[in-house]
Amino acid sequence: MNVLVINCGSSSFKYQLIDMSREAVLSSGLVERIGEAHGSLSHKVAPGTDKESVFRREQPFPDHTAGLNAVMELLVDPERGVISSLKDINAVGHRVVMGGEDIRASCLMGEKEKAAVSRLSALAPLHNPANLQGIEVAQSLLPHAPSVGVFDTEFHASLPPKAFMYALPYSLYEEQRIRRYGFHGTSHRFVARSGARLLDKDPDFFNAITCHLGNGCSITAVENGASVETSMGLTPLEGVIMGTRCGNIDPAILLFLGRNGNLDFPVLDSLLNKESGLKGICGLNDMRDIHAARARGEARAQLAFDMFCHGIRKYIGAYCAILGRLDALIFTAGIGENDDQVRAAVCADLGILGIAVDPARNAMRSGRPRAISPETSPVAVLVVPTNEELAIAQETVAVLAAGR
Ligand code: ADP
Repeated sequence: MNVLVINCGSSSFKYQLIDMSREAVLSSGLVERIGEAHGSLSHKVAPGTDKESVFRREQPFPDHTAGLNAVMELLVDPERGVISSLKDINAVGHRVVMGGEDIRASCLMGEKEKAAVSRLSALAPLHNPANLQGIEVAQSLLPHAPSVGVFDTEFHASLPPKAFMYALPYSLYEEQRIRRYGFHGTSHRFVARSGARLLDKDPDFFNAITCHLGNGCSITAVENGASVETSMGLTPLEGVIMGTRCGNIDPAILLFLGRNGNLDFPVLDSLLNKESGLKGICGLNDMRDIHAARARGEARAQLAFDMFCHGIRKYIGAYCAILGRLDALIFTAGIGENDDQVRAAVCADLGILGIAVDPARNAMRSGRPRAISPETSPVAVLVVPTNEELAIAQETVAVLAAGR
C-alpha cells in the first residue's frame, strides 16, 4: 500500500510517498513560494538511500493545485517516476494542526470533518486553512484515494482538565474553548512509542518526558503511553524558549507594552512569534550559529544557550513531579537529535532525578534511536529521531483498517 503524506502550509507544502509494505520512502519533496512570482520544487527519489537523486525546478506555482499537479507528474514521470499510475497512490495522509475538542483522533476527511477543520481555523489561523486546502486539492486530484487527517492535537486529547484549563473565567472555556491543546503530538507519540520499543517496555505502561526541540520546541509528560501534560498551549507560543518564539512570559508584559509602548496586536504578534526566543536574546535562531558565536566569546549567545537549557530543565523537574515514575527522558527533532551540548547541559547534575548522560555515548552521532545514559542509570536518556511523515502514514493505514 502506497500512502502520500502531505504537510501543507499557506505558501508551501512538503510531501512523501511511502510504500507501507516496507515503510520505505519512494519519493519526497518540497514545493515553496506558492502564489509568488518565483516558486520552486525540490523532488527526491529514493531519499536517504544510496540511489538518492534530487531534481530541482524553479517555476511559478499560482496555487496549491498547480504545485500538487507538478508533483503528480513527477511521481509517474517515465524517467524519475516511482509509480506507473496515480492509481498506485492508495491513500493520502494529511497533517492537520488543530483538531480542537471536536476531532480527538485521526479520521477520514469527509464533509463533516472538513467543516470542523474550517471552524477550528479561529484557533489556528496560520495552519488549519492551509491544511484544509491540501485536503481539498488532494481529493480533487486523487478522487480514488481516501484522505485521512492526522492531528497535531490528538495525542494531547488525553490531558486531564487540571492540565488543560487556564485559570481564567470559566466562561472563556465554555464559550470560546480557550484551553491548552498542545502541539507536535504526532512526534511526541512516535518517539514515546519508539523509546518504549527500544527499551523493550510495553508502550502502554511507559512513562517518559519527551523533548521535541526543533525550530519550535515542546515538552510532554507521557504517563502509561498517554500525554498528561505538555508545554505548548492554546497556540504554539507557550512553553520553552524557541528559535524566534518567546515561550512563557508574564502575560502582564503584553499589557505593559500595549499601554506604555502603544503597540498594537499585529506588532505584538510579530514581536512574540518572530523577534523573540533565541533570536531576541542574541540575534541568532539556529543553534549551530549560536554555538559558533559562543566559541567566539559572544556573551549574548552564551546567555541565549543558558536560558534555553535552563527553561527545559524547569519543565523536566516539573514533569518528574507530575509523573512520579520516569522510565525515559527522550530528545528529538533538529536540536534534540543533533546537539550533544544542549543535551549535556540540560541533563547536567540531575542525579537527584536519576538522570545522567554518558559523555562518550552523547557525543556519538547516529541517525538511529539510541541510549546516551550510562548502562546502570535508573532513567534511560534516549535520542530518538522523529519521523512525523512515517507516523502520519502509519496512522492513515490504521484508520483505513479500522474504517474510522
Ligand atoms: P522544524 O521545527 O522546523 O521541523 P527541525 O526539527 O528540523 O525544525 O529543527 C531545526 C533546528 O535544529 C535548527 O534551527 C537548528 O537550530 C537545529 N539543528 C539542526 N541541526 C543541528 C545540529 N547539527 N546541531 C545543532 N542544532 C541543529
